[in-house]
Amino acid sequence: MSETIVSPFHLGEQKIQHRLGVRDKMERFGQQVIRDYMPEQHREFYAQLPFVFVAHADQHGWPWASILFNQPGFIDSPDNKHIHINTIPVPGDPLINSLKLGNQLGILGIELETRRRNRLSGHISNVSENSIELCINQAFGNCPQYIQTRELHSIDPMSMPPKTEEKLTQLDQQAIDLISNSDTFFVASYVATGSNKPSEGADVSHRGGKPGFIRIDDPQTLTIPDYLGNFHFNTLGNFLENPKAGLLFIDFNHGHLLTITGTVEILWDSPDIGFFSGAERLWTFRIDHGHWLKNVLPLRWKLQQYSPNTLLTGNWIEADAAKKAVTLRNTWQPYQVTKIVRESSLIKSFYLNPPLDQKPPFQPGQFLTLKIKINGKEQIRTYTVSSAPGDSYFRISVKHEQAKSNTPGVFSSYLHQHISVGDNINVKAPTGAFTYDATSQRPSVLVSAGIGITPMIAMARHALQEAVRTRTIQPLTLICSARNSDQRAFFSELNEIANNSAGHIRIVWALSQPEPHLQMGVDYHHNGRICKQLLQSVLQADACDVYLCGPNNFMQSQYNSLRELGCSNTHIFAEAFGPATLIRDEDSTVKALPIAEEAIVTFVESNLEQAWSKHDGNLLEFAEAHGLHPEYGCRSGQCGACKVKLLSGKVVYQQEISTALDKDEVLLCSAVPAAYTVNKTNNTIARLEIQL
Ligand SMILES: Cc1cc2nc3c(=O)[nH]c(=O)nc-3n(C[C@H](O)[C@H](O)[C@H](O)COP(=O)(O)OP(=O)(O)OC[C@H]3O[C@@H](n4cnc5c(N)ncnc54)[C@H](O)[C@@H]3O)c2cc1C
Repeated sequence: MSETIVSPFHLGEQKIQHRLGVRDKMERFGQQVIRDYMPEQHREFYAQLPFVFVAHADQHGWPWASILFNQPGFIDSPDNKHIHINTIPVPGDPLINSLKLGNQLGILGIELETRRRNRLSGHISNVSENSIELCINQAFGNCPQYIQTRELHSIDPMSMPPKTEEKLTQLDQQAIDLISNSDTFFVASYVATGSNKPSEGADVSHRGGKPGFIRIDDPQTLTIPDYLGNFHFNTLGNFLENPKAGLLFIDFNHGHLLTITGTVEILWDSPDIGFFSGAERLWTFRIDHGHWLKNVLPLRWKLQQYSPNTLLTGNWIEADAAKKAVTLRNTWQPYQVTKIVRESSLIKSFYLNPPLDQKPPFQPGQFLTLKIKINGKEQIRTYTVSSAPGDSYFRISVKHEQAKSNTPGVFSSYLHQHISVGDNINVKAPTGAFTYDATSQRPSVLVSAGIGITPMIAMARHALQEAVRTRTIQPLTLICSARNSDQRAFFSELNEIANNSAGHIRIVWALSQPEPHLQMGVDYHHNGRICKQLLQSVLQADACDVYLCGPNNFMQSQYNSLRELGCSNTHIFAEAFGPATLIRDEDSTVKALPIAEEAIVTFVESNLEQAWSKHDGNLLEFAEAHGLHPEYGCRSGQCGACKVKLLSGKVVYQQEISTALDKDEVLLCSAVPAAYTVNKTNNTIARLEIQL
């Protein structure tokens, strides 16, 4: 007779794993790590703890999270299937009434100093006045994730004010204050279908985040982000089967406990998710009832530091600011310069802070549009954000365009020579289509020359941050070229990223004219320009995504090499910092539509209607030729500064544009009227109405 394998996960947990495409992987993983006994290491761990968290459901089915404490050693395990907890709950804790033979408990052992934790669930196999014996159903370890480091010390219980208990049916001001400032709480959940499956029962989990990660919608309702975790979905899986939770907040400074129970709802698709860094989902908690248990803990904890994972997440203040920033996307906002750093002999970085910290969300590789009045004339230029979306600041890194003849670049010279910390610059939110997707299943190779390194450093920073957050990363190779070490930027920063990536991110430095004192293999890896052989040495041609950024001739030659090496067009992404001149070969997906011979163009706000013909150029040139002054920046389809509403008609783009456009928008600098028939008399005059 074949033995049936019982899943370590119950139906609710399995449904969520299915939903997120990790079911098979987690079943295999769960079979390995979820045991029906405690490994020796866990037994030793519990034996030295001064407290544990406990989940249970009361006689009405409400889950609660509690804390049990005593001197270290108050937990022992006579064998690997049982633990004894030698203590009693604090007065007023609903756990007191649930300590009955056969009742299910969930246990979380956690050491905030070391961030170690282990979990188990079981049923009460024996209980006396001051001791509970639990028979283990499941035991497993957990990684530190969002646990903040805290130092514990005990105080003399006799020195504490008298214990008090206050009942709640909604949050009072003290509870609101505690929750608003919390970076840690514990959540109990419970499933019992009567099947006696070891995967069912009570569970208590830790939840951590930046202060402000719990939104208090009203005195009865909280909204809480769910971050990437271990994919067990012990808590959310329980919610799916039984939408109830018990929350425990600890006032770490005063030894108070706030324990509340209520109903929950998982929000899979809330629009708020996109604004909250790190949130994969949200869930709401609506309090039914609860208690303040004050002065009950003779333990105090001092915050040492936030978990590195926590630092990559947001809070509701940041989420609301991001939401507000999105509504201001297309408006100029005064960003303040907070820091200026010289990165090389040619390049300076400018750190920028949006007003009221309203930082719009963006993708690594996108650029900001800047506007400055220089010598009495408004100038607009675009600069790639060289920081990552997870950084708390915007950074742009600007090459000082020295005179090719005797005329230095207008904007870059101004930034380098006249902009100081504290100045405000008008900025439009990031945009652009040259973006890196850290969730891609393919390895990526980023190839840059000179200042083309700016999108690449944003991408590399993002890849590393996402690797910390998600614990997955695809191999990433950067090939960065410069003339010499004097002109090269971000050498230390990129090397540090590579060093922290456990070998997943690799940097190849190419110098075309290395200084004689530099050592090959230490200061750089390739002498000369990036060539086909170098590309070949890092490329798994048909399996990689390749990103190119640099001068036009550089990009064309890299592109040609990549095509010869077998890279498909759809996996080569390129951005030029000027007019895009990359000529793609025939398997390119960019198809041009027919251009009109002539058209009638109406600029509605200017009350101007003019005939356009093929020789009049793009719509920006056409508007200017008729005395209009639309805003513009790069004039090459990239910065989006000349984006306006297209009220009717169709346009064709003469070059690849990298600005995201809504259906009813047109980028004047790159568009011309499209040919189409407007009536049945074969009249082929095209008409456009533009909001300008
Ligand atoms: C999507 C995108 C992203 C970008 N990201 C970055 C970035 O991250 N970092 C960065 O540094 N740049 C970036 N740029 C380029 C940036 O927008 C500017 O184009 C660049 O800084 C030059 O602007 P400027 O005003 O200094 O030069 P301009 O005044 O516009 O002059 C451009 C060039 O022409 C030369 N020139 C000007 N007038 C003459 C003349 N009469 N005769 C001969 N030569 C002349 C100048 O010396 C200069 O080399 C990006 C551009 C785009 C489109």
